[in-house]
Amino acid sequence: MQTFSIAIHGGAGTLVKGMMTPALEAAYKSALRSALDTGYATLENGNTAIEAVEIAVKILEDSHLFNAGKGSVFTANGTHEMDASIMDGKTLNAGAVSLITGIKNPVSLARDVMEKSEHVFLAGEGAMQFAKQLNYTIEDASYFYDELRHQQWLEIKGTDTYQLDHSSKKDSKFGTVGAVACDSEGNVAAATSTGGMTNKKWGRVGDSPMIGAGNYANNKTCAVSCTGSGEFFIRGVVAYDLACLMEHKNMSLEDASNEVIHKRMLEIGGDGGLIAVDAKGTMSMPFNTEGMYRASKSSNGTEEISIYK
Ligand code: ASP
Repeated sequence: MQTFSIAIHGGAGTLVKGMMTPALEAAYKSALRSALDTGYATLENGNTAIEAVEIAVKILEDSHLFNAGKGSVFTANGTHEMDASIMDGKTLNAGAVSLITGIKNPVSLARDVMEKSEHVFLAGEGAMQFAKQLNYTIEDASYFYDELRHQQWLEIKGTDTYQLDHSSKKDSKFGTVGAVACDSEGNVAAATSTGGMTNKKWGRVGDSPMIGAGNYANNKTCAVSCTGSGEFFIRGVVAYDLACLMEHKNMSLEDASNEVIHKRMLEIGGDGGLIAVDAKGTMSMPFNTEGMYRASKSSNGTEEISIYK
């Protein structure tokens, strides 16, 4: 029987180990657990990989703990600009949004771009018009307000500094979210959603909404969702590079994901991690940072929820 599996991440930016309290650790793990179990149950009930990754990412977006949806970081203007993408490995259909504001679940808007428009990638004003046309509720700024996020921003407000969640600064503690799944028909899908980097300006966009960089899915190889220093993941075309190593070099999912995270990323100075699943349901979750909020569950009986190495 075809193995079905799901893996999720809450970013490669974790609290430095010594700063993680047992209560916080429990909160992170419980948020991961809820997204994992819901995504897994979706697969178990015979739904598609696309359904599973969207629902898992929505749950992570609804938590203030992660840098996506509700928990998105502050931009230089004190606003929230979110990016998200989703891709179906069966059809190679994809949808992405960037620089959107006030949308509770950016991943669902990305899915609507995939299914209800003729385009793949909508950004800024235009993406917002599309959302309004589909009657999306535009949340008030207060929905996205988080005291810790605000504090994070105030520390660098007015400077030229950007803060990525996975940098080794003591206060870096949250992350982009993502999910990859392989369903009982052997179809794979990937979804990624982020608030980007604290204090970002000039319409900065990272890898998360870019198909091939931070997110990719193809039944021939695998589904991938990345987290880390977006500029490096874009330059490394990381998600697609992983799929290419499998397709053209016949590498296993594990070898290919280790090659991109522990070798190619390091060679260009990038840090972060990824989650990936192949069409047999095998999963891999490498990272080169101190930790990565991550969880996985498979119909072959394996399950993991971890933060550090
Ligand atoms: N990759 C994301 C970005 O650069 C950030 C992250 O994963 O923490 O926007």
